[in-house]
Amino acid sequence: MNRRNAAYCEVEFLPADKMIATARVLVDGASGLEFDYELPTEFSARVAVGSRVRIPLRNRDSTGTVVATSKVAEGSDEAAVLKPIAGLITDQPILTPSLIELGRWISAYYVAPMDAVMRSLIPEAVRGENKDFQRRIFVRLKKTPDEEELEKLGKRAKRQASILSELLDAPAPVALASLGQGGRAAVEGLVKKGFVELTKEIVSRDPHHDEKFVASNPLKLTHAQGKCLEVINEAVSSEGGAKPLLLHGVTGSGKTEVYLQAIQAALEAGGTALVLVPEISLTPQTVRRFKSRFAHIQDRVAVLHSNLSGGERFDEWHKIVDGTAKIVIGARSALFAPLRNLKLIVVDEEHEGSYKQDTTPRYHARDVAVVRASIEGCAVVLGSATPSLESFQNTRIGKYQLIELQERVDDRSMPLIRIVDMRQEGRNLSKSGGAAIISERLRNAVNKRLEKGEQVILFLNRRGFATSMSCPACGEVCGCPHCSVSLTFHRREERLVCHICGYQRVAPRKCPKCGDPAIRFAGYGTEKVEEIIRKVFGQARLARVDTDTMSRKGALREVLNAFKANKLDILVGTQMIAKGLHFPNVTLVGILNADIGLHIPDFRAGERTFQLLTQVAGRAGRGEMEGEVLIQTFTPHSPSIQFARHHDFEGFAEQELGFRKGFSYPPFAHCVLLTTRSPHARRAEFTLETMHKRLLADQPDGVLLGEPVEAPLSKAAGMFRFQLMLRASSARLLTRYLSSIIEKLTFPADVQVTVDVDPLYLA
Ligand code: ADP
Ligand code: ZN
Repeated sequence: MNRRNAAYCEVEFLPADKMIATARVLVDGASGLEFDYELPTEFSARVAVGSRVRIPLRNRDSTGTVVATSKVAEGSDEAAVLKPIAGLITDQPILTPSLIELGRWISAYYVAPMDAVMRSLIPEAVRGENKDFQRRIFVRLKKTPDEEELEKLGKRAKRQASILSELLDAPAPVALASLGQGGRAAVEGLVKKGFVELTKEIVSRDPHHDEKFVASNPLKLTHAQGKCLEVINEAVSSEGGAKPLLLHGVTGSGKTEVYLQAIQAALEAGGTALVLVPEISLTPQTVRRFKSRFAHIQDRVAVLHSNLSGGERFDEWHKIVDGTAKIVIGARSALFAPLRNLKLIVVDEEHEGSYKQDTTPRYHARDVAVVRASIEGCAVVLGSATPSLESFQNTRIGKYQLIELQERVDDRSMPLIRIVDMRQEGRNLSKSGGAAIISERLRNAVNKRLEKGEQVILFLNRRGFATSMSCPACGEVCGCPHCSVSLTFHRREERLVCHICGYQRVAPRKCPKCGDPAIRFAGYGTEKVEEIIRKVFGQARLARVDTDTMSRKGALREVLNAFKANKLDILVGTQMIAKGLHFPNVTLVGILNADIGLHIPDFRAGERTFQLLTQVAGRAGRGEMEGEVLIQTFTPHSPSIQFARHHDFEGFAEQELGFRKGFSYPPFAHCVLLTTRSPHARRAEFTLETMHKRLLADQPDGVLLGEPVEAPLSKAAGMFRFQLMLRASSARLLTRYLSSIIEKLTFPADVQVTVDVDPLYLA
C-alpha cells in the first residue's frame, strides 16, 4: 500500500489496458489517514469519488470513503503494493467531489480532523451498513384469467377471485400486507395456479406519507419582492459570478415567498436548490409551505430534520443521491445534502445560533454555505429580519450584496410595541400573586383579545416551573452536582432538573443543608406561567409549548394545528413559538421577561436580545388585524429593548458595531476559543496555563492573546472548564499559530482540549 503520494498522471501515455484503476480512500475512524487501493474491474465502473467502500487495512476489514480515483501502470512499483478494495457499501457514491473539497476546507478552517468532518458530512444512517432500503412483498399479475377461469374460481375460492379482480383493476402491483386477513393464504393459492407472482420492491419511508399537500400557486409579488427576486435570479444565472446576497426583510415581509419563486426559477433552469432553516423553525407549517408549492413534484422535495428515524433519513438521503430530489429543506446538517448541479442555497434566519455545531467540527452552517456556494459556483441567499452583525458588516465592506424588504406585504403595519416597566408594576401590585409575572397592563390586554375572540402568544425564554429552589434560612441553593448551575424545579414530576446535563433528583421537602422546611422556589418558567394563566384567565383555552411538553413526536404539529384552527386562545411557550410561525388571528404578543439573557457575560448578549425581541414581536399582527406587543422588562432603557421597540435594525447595528469595533470583537476580528475540560479542576487549569505560556513565547504580530480564565459555565457534566480567547483579523493566522503550538504538546489523558473557531457562545 502506498500512502498519500502515489505517482499519478505521469504515466497516462500508456495504453489503457496496461493501466490499473485505483481509488484513494479516506479510512473511517483513523483520524484522516488515506490509502490507495486497486479497483478490480468488477467495481471500477461503479466506484467514483464519494463511494463508500470496504477495504482491507492491516489485515482487518475496514470501511472508508473514496476521495479520488486515478490509474497506475501495471507492473509499476506503485501497482505492486496495492491491495484491492473488498467491496462496495452502497451502489452509488453518496458524496460529490465538491462536498469532499468542502470537507477539506472545514477541516482546515475549523481545525478538525478529517474523520470527524466526514462523520458530519454523511449521516450515520447512511454511512453504516446496518440500514438499507425497506423492501416489501408485492403481488403482481402474471397471467390474465379468462372468463371461464374467473367463474370457476368465483365458485370454489371466493377470496382468490376477489383478489384477482382487485389486481386486474389496480394500476400497479399491490402490497401483500394491504390485502388483509386471509390474503396471504389466498395469494399462495393464486401463485400455485400461476395467476400471480410475488416480487420484492423498495418502498420509501416518507415521514409525510400521511399528509395531503394542496398545490399552492406563486403569489403576485409586491414591487419590493419583485426586485429582490430579480437580483437573486441574476445571481443564479451568473453561475457563481455573483456575490453572496443578504436579504434583510422585516418579519412578514414575504421573504419565504421570494425564496419559493427563486427555487422555482433555479429548477426551471435545470438545477437543484438547498434551503436551510433552523431546526426550531423546521415546523410542520414550514414544511407544508414548501411541499405545497411543489406539490406537483412532491417526491422531488426531500426534508431532513432531526426527528427522522434512521430509516426515513436513509431514504431521504438516497432520494438526493439518486437524483430524484431536486429541492432539499433541512436544518444545519442538510448543508451537506449531496445535490448535484446546485444552483441556489438559501439560509433562512441566518442569524440563528443553532447553525453553529457545538461538537467537533464546530462549523457554522451559514458561513460554510457561503463556501459551498463558491465551490459549486452557485448563488447563495442569507435571509433574516435581524441579520447577524457579521453578515451585515460583510455588506458594508462589499463582500456581500444587501437586498431589502422594508415593509410587510399588503401594507400591513408593523406591530405596535409597548414597554411595561416591571419595576413600577412590582411596586403597584405586589399584593396580587401573579403581578410579578403578568402585569396589570398585559392582563387587561389579554382580556380584551379574549373578549374579541382573537388569539394571544405569551413568550418566556425559560422552561420549567421555578428557576431554582433556595432556602431562606441558610441561603442554600439547590445546585447540580455536575455543573455550576442551579437546578430547575419541574412541578409535574416534582423533580429538580439540570438544564445543562440533564441530572435529576426528587425535589427536597426541607433544606438539604440546614433542614429548614421553608425551602422555596425562586424565579419562574413556562410551567409556572401556565399555571398562573389558568388561574388568571380561567375561561381561556391554553396550551404550553416547550421541549418538556412537546417531546412526543407529532405533539407540536397537533398543538399548532389546534391553534391555527382557533381551538386554542393562548399559546405559552419558549423559543419554539418565537420563530417562523404565521397565525393571522394573533393580535397580541406578550414577552414576559425581556431581560433574561441580557445580563450574561457574552459580548453578543445585546445582539441576541434584540434579535429575540424582534422575532417574537413579529408573530403579532400577521393577518388583517393590527398587532400589539407588550414587552415586560426591568431594564426598559437598555438599547436592545429600545431599538427593538422602534423596529430599528440599522440603529441597533450602528451602535453595536461601534462598540464591537472599539473592543476588537467580531465582526472586526476573528476569535478562537481554546477550552480545556477535565474532571480535575487543577489539571484543566494547569494545562491551559501551560499552553498560554507557549503561546506567549511565540505570539505573532496582530494576535491578541487573552488570559486563561475559568469559563463562565465553570463546570458542566462533571467537567471543570477553563478557557482562553485569541483574536486577530484573520482566522487562518490564528489557527496556524495555534496548531503549530498544539502539535508540539502532549496533553494528560484526562484533559480534553478543544479549539472553537468563530465561537458563538462564550458563556
Ligand atoms: P417572512 O418570511 O418575511 O416572514 P412570509 O413569506 O411568511 O414572510 O409572508 C408573510 C405572509 O404574507 C404569508 O402569509 C404570505 O403568504 C403572504 N405573502 C407573501 N408575499 C405575498 C404577496 N406578494 N402577496 C400577498 N401575500 C403575500
Ligand atoms: Zn448538570
